[in-house]
Amino acid sequence: MKSFGYAAASKSAPLAPWSFDRREPNPDDVVLSIDYCGICHSDIHQVRGDWGRELFPMVPGHEIIGRVTAVGSNVTRFKPGDLAAVGVIVESCLHCTNCRNNLEVYCSDGGARDTYNATLRDGSRTYGGYSDTIVTPEHFVHTLKPGIDLAATAPLLCAGITTYSPLRHWGAGPNKKVGVIGLGGLGHLALKFAHAFGAHVVQFTTSESKIDDAKKLGADEVVLSKDPAAMQKHAASFDFILDCVSAPHDMDAYLALLKLDATLCIVGLPDKPLSVQPFSIVANRRSLAGSAIGGMKETQEMLDFCADNNITAEIELTTYDKLNEAYDRVLKNDVKYRFVLDNRSLKQS
Ligand code: NAP
Ligand code: ZN
Repeated sequence: MKSFGYAAASKSAPLAPWSFDRREPNPDDVVLSIDYCGICHSDIHQVRGDWGRELFPMVPGHEIIGRVTAVGSNVTRFKPGDLAAVGVIVESCLHCTNCRNNLEVYCSDGGARDTYNATLRDGSRTYGGYSDTIVTPEHFVHTLKPGIDLAATAPLLCAGITTYSPLRHWGAGPNKKVGVIGLGGLGHLALKFAHAFGAHVVQFTTSESKIDDAKKLGADEVVLSKDPAAMQKHAASFDFILDCVSAPHDMDAYLALLKLDATLCIVGLPDKPLSVQPFSIVANRRSLAGSAIGGMKETQEMLDFCADNNITAEIELTTYDKLNEAYDRVLKNDVKYRFVLDNRSLKQS
């Protein structure tokens, strides 16, 4: 299927217009015309080769909102004209224990396959949402409730579910003290969710300029992580901390803030290993954990929760001619708090 979008030809090349072929739709597929796509820091990590598993040319983008243009004969939940959304994965085996338990992202038979920068079981390459169309099996397509802000919903497909899932898993809620590290695309949604779930939320940031925003977004307290005295005030007091930072940072400083049996969960994926002093987790029998996006059922639950509770991302709508500039700004920590590409600016040259 003919498609047009923006691709990186190598890890040092800027993103540029590119015409390419997608796999042909089959009876299980939904075809979307894309309206909006968020810019996730994972897009930048992969385009720049931070994780060392990149396939070029790469069309990034896994926070996708669009309209259905065609459905295969086996598709039951969508018809042409419907709004629909696609997130970070587009394939898993669907029969292993984890898939059957709605945890497709942890598929144990061949693994989940990413929306872009991946190869499917049939050998075809995946290309993401910085493009005009996408073909996706119905199982990996989500419904959207009417009346929502579509552009500001796009980031929920990755940043939203990646923070919603661990906050639910570790029981963020009333009478729990929850920390969020990093007020970026993921972090600001983690803050909104933890607040909506009724937890006492402490936002950690390195950016003084974000303190007022953090309070407006629902933080009960904001801590400048560069201030050791401010950090020390929270020693051994947290039930749960979610680490949303995209770059290497001092883990021991945050682990010291967990109380007995509490967990720090990493969702950020820096390009370099993080170091941990074993004493930091031996003390207080602490746990260090990780979490990857979330399953399809939970992603739908999160989207419905957001529609019902009026939760969307804080976005800066941008255009394809400013895509490379947007990447530079994310790397400079200069976005409040998620760029979303407006596909009306995607014009075939
Ligand atoms: P982002 O918007 O760039 O936010 C990252 C935040 O981390 C920044 O806003 C900043 O917050 C903080 N930060 C940046 N550089 C830092 C440094 N050198 N030291 C300390 N703090 C720093 O990125 P994002 O899109 O939210 O993604 C965050 C990470 O999650 C990325 O690594 C991404 O690949 C990963 N991710 C993982 C999953 C998953 O399934 N686990 C899914 C999506 C994304 P402050 O200014 O507040 O300090
Ligand atoms: Zn992402």
